[in-house]
Amino acid sequence: MGVQQNYIGGKWTDGATAKDNVNPSDLKDVIGSYAQADATGVAAAVDAAKAAAHGWNRSTPQQRYDVLEFVGNEIMARREELGRLLSREEGKTLPEGIGEATRAAQIFKFFAGEALRIQGEKLASVRPGVEVEITREPVGIVGIITPWNFPIAIPAWKIAPALAYGNCVVFKPADLVPGCAWALAEILSRAGLPEGVFNLVMGRGSVVGEAILNADALGAISFTGSVETGKHVAATCAGRLAKVQLEMGGKNPFVVLDDADLNVAVNCAVNSAFFSTGQRCTASSRLIVTEGIHDKFVGAMTDAIKALKVDDALKDGTQIGPVVDQSQLDQDVSSIGIGQSEGAKLAFGGARLQRATPGFYLQPALFTECTNEMRISREEIFGPVASTIRVKDYDEALAVANDTPFGLSAGICTQSLKHATDFKRNSEAGMVMVNLPTAGVDFHVPFGGRKGSSYGPREQGRYAAEFYTTVKTAYTSA
Ligand code: NAD
Repeated sequence: MGVQQNYIGGKWTDGATAKDNVNPSDLKDVIGSYAQADATGVAAAVDAAKAAAHGWNRSTPQQRYDVLEFVGNEIMARREELGRLLSREEGKTLPEGIGEATRAAQIFKFFAGEALRIQGEKLASVRPGVEVEITREPVGIVGIITPWNFPIAIPAWKIAPALAYGNCVVFKPADLVPGCAWALAEILSRAGLPEGVFNLVMGRGSVVGEAILNADALGAISFTGSVETGKHVAATCAGRLAKVQLEMGGKNPFVVLDDADLNVAVNCAVNSAFFSTGQRCTASSRLIVTEGIHDKFVGAMTDAIKALKVDDALKDGTQIGPVVDQSQLDQDVSSIGIGQSEGAKLAFGGARLQRATPGFYLQPALFTECTNEMRISREEIFGPVASTIRVKDYDEALAVANDTPFGLSAGICTQSLKHATDFKRNSEAGMVMVNLPTAGVDFHVPFGGRKGSSYGPREQGRYAAEFYTTVKTAYTSA
């Protein structure tokens, strides 16, 4: 099997080295070998984007629409194949993989439409005989750095708006999931873009990522990943005055009130705590439950978790796939140990599981009798581990929900309009869900959080224009 190359300046290009992409459901299954760029590769991609920027900045909405519509249509037509590749390299179940590929297609098609709707404003000046126009222009060249947990949707929701608003792109996917990134680049290579407008440089964060952050020609960096790396990205960008957008971690609360429908509460909590193996930034990892329903909820949750099928992501009927790799698995297991040493009760799960193929299988874990001060309630674990926190009433639930360094998504399960309305108003999260899982969002509206979860303008929907364009104010004396 040959090495899948980087895509630089319209040409498929070797990296300095290559790396195997291994299936976390079956460590004997090597998906392929992918090029690893070094700083020279990034420099070549930046130069190619610089050469292309002038032309692409001036491309018509029709040209951009055609490219994005082509990509969206092809991903949609190949969603089963791409979803399978995604599940094979990342470990989410096949229906989740196909769902994510479909989402990527929808995002490209949405931004195809947005390319036709770039708006400005025209105002009368305060001075006689003068008119003022406010227009949106491309930022220039955007560096895009993505995490492993949404290998095609997150690249799509950054690359599609970048191109729609007339920017060139240098894209670095996460090291663990080059397969979907390469497949997306291959589609983009046939979409009618002038060479150099889109570039793929695969490789390590400390090499390729660093070179992107420090490339002066990149006027903006869009990053999704961990808080630690995000802070470094922001500091580096600030040092050279580049625009920056960060989407980072979460410790998302899901509040269950006494008047909740128990089935809805359990379904939402199981879905958002454990589906996609808990590896979603919007996962509910703190289940905050009022006294009257607490024991019933914990009992029903435990039964539901026991029934979950943990197995090979590609196998029919699997509900929870493997953890993505050994280091994430070690982090999950260590967090479970920390919870136990802090005095939380492990109501169920947390064991390593053996399946027919060697993989990183972990039983979903539910902690009860947790306090909001415990490390397992404060730090993102990013695995199938949730803590239950018992509270007296709605007011205490809201206070605990907001008492976190993060603020991405927050949910409440209740039949009370009063409490649902109050929660929507007073939750300190960027996204609020009522009787819905904290994970699972629409593709045509803004996505993002507050506090330690996000930094800079929102992603997705028409709010994406804030980051991918810069505003110009022009005055004319008639
Ligand atoms: P990570 O921070 O380790 O890596 C993210 C990306 O940054 C990768 O492409 C990585 O190679 C790159 N990188 C690493 N070091 C770098 C450096 N020095 N310079 C430039 N780039 C560098 O995160 P991860 O483990 O891939 O992803 C998991 C994290 O992502 C979790 O914390 C999760 O909450 C977060 N996440 C957030 C969202 C969101 O929208 N808020 C969505 C998905 C994942």
